[in-house]
Amino acid sequence: MYGTASRYRSLPNGLEFFLSNPAQTLLAAMIVQMTVLGVVSYPAWSVTDVGRETRRLTSRGAIAVIVGLALMSARGVVHGAASIVVANALLLSGYRNIFTGVYVAFGLPPPPAWERWLTRLAIVAVAALWAADPSADATLFAQPRLLVASLPMAAISGYLVVTLMRKRMRPWPLGARYVATAAAFGCVTNAGRPVAFLFVDGHVDPLKTPVAIVAVGSALGSSLLLYIGIAMQVETRAREHLEHKNEQLSQQAFTDGLTGLANRRHLEDTALIELARSRRHGWPLTVLLIDVDHFKRVNDRFGHATGDAVLRETAKSMLIGLRSHDMLARWGGEEFALLLPHCSPADAEQVAQRILTSVRQATLPALEGGHVTVSIGIAAARDDDDDFHAVLRRADRALYRAKDAGRNQFKLSEQPEQAA
Ligand code: GH3
Ligand code: MG
Ligand code: MG
Repeated sequence: MYGTASRYRSLPNGLEFFLSNPAQTLLAAMIVQMTVLGVVSYPAWSVTDVGRETRRLTSRGAIAVIVGLALMSARGVVHGAASIVVANALLLSGYRNIFTGVYVAFGLPPPPAWERWLTRLAIVAVAALWAADPSADATLFAQPRLLVASLPMAAISGYLVVTLMRKRMRPWPLGARYVATAAAFGCVTNAGRPVAFLFVDGHVDPLKTPVAIVAVGSALGSSLLLYIGIAMQVETRAREHLEHKNEQLSQQAFTDGLTGLANRRHLEDTALIELARSRRHGWPLTVLLIDVDHFKRVNDRFGHATGDAVLRETAKSMLIGLRSHDMLARWGGEEFALLLPHCSPADAEQVAQRILTSVRQATLPALEGGHVTVSIGIAAARDDDDDFHAVLRRADRALYRAKDAGRNQFKLSEQPEQAA
């Protein structure tokens, strides 16, 4: 008894239009949704290059889709060239851009070139079909127009699902599952829409059919899922990026930038722990201070850069033969410290001898096959040491004795009775 018009008679004209045109209402909802999703999610995407590139592609795509949807929903109000041809062109290229953003976000190989050509071909075909019936309602070729616009979307969506599955992410990130579900949905609805339209009576406005309502409704849902999936992936990548950066930073805090050895602070921290342990268990703890002989001459003759390379190569040759719990550190300049837990002075002398030999025998590429030597001072921790620096001071005095005695040799720190 009551028609649609009379049911909404008391409502303003615009609202009445939307309520009596559900497909258009859904299109409007989709415009709002895409705008909100973009505004809400994008600020967080600036952390990584991947995030920024994804944002560039998806926002460019979303703007095209939003304008396309607006034009499409203005069927009958604006010229058919805009509401049919331009709208479809914007929707196709917009979604292709958003999907390209997905490829970037998930680190997939770039989408194949046929997608671009298929999209262009579809746009030309839609334009040609509209030109063949440019009447106001343009229903004559509505069916084939729908076919040429929907099938490329189905192909592009389907190919995205296949590519995501081929990537063999283990376990599949939640974002990938959302995106794949959305794309699979898009594939099925776009492939099914022209088929379903076959069963719709006569040449009607495609937006007025139940098929259109279902199609736009599912596009609304799958676009939401797609965006959430992309956002999740971008956030995951940003988190991984930050974690990696943090790891790098803490790694840098412990290492010497030039040689890659432990730095002074790291050795001092470790030495405190080892000193306490050696006292608790009565284990010996020995320290070697190692200084490159006449290093100033290397710098003077070959330059500072070569000097740096010599330090790197010397550090490498000293590492040979060390136990996993020995710690070699760059103490500063051309001086190194070697912490030997659980090692008696007698064993430390053997280590020192091995280092002297391997440094002396190492042919250094930086010096075009030349050599350097080192001098070494050895000191063992004692019960009356206040702290680790007391051990180091003795090692330093021993090192000077080694230098005084002619370099390229080691000296053991004086025992207490000798020192007195
Ligand atoms: P000695 O046998 O008595 O130890 O003589 P030396 O020339 O090695 O001793 P000295 O302490 O006089 O000189 C050390 C030189 O090491 C001076 C400094 O320019 C150089 N040096 C310190 N740190 C670095 C570095 O990181 N890179 C380079 N290339 N040179 C450095
Ligand atoms: Mg020195
Ligand atoms: Mg020196």
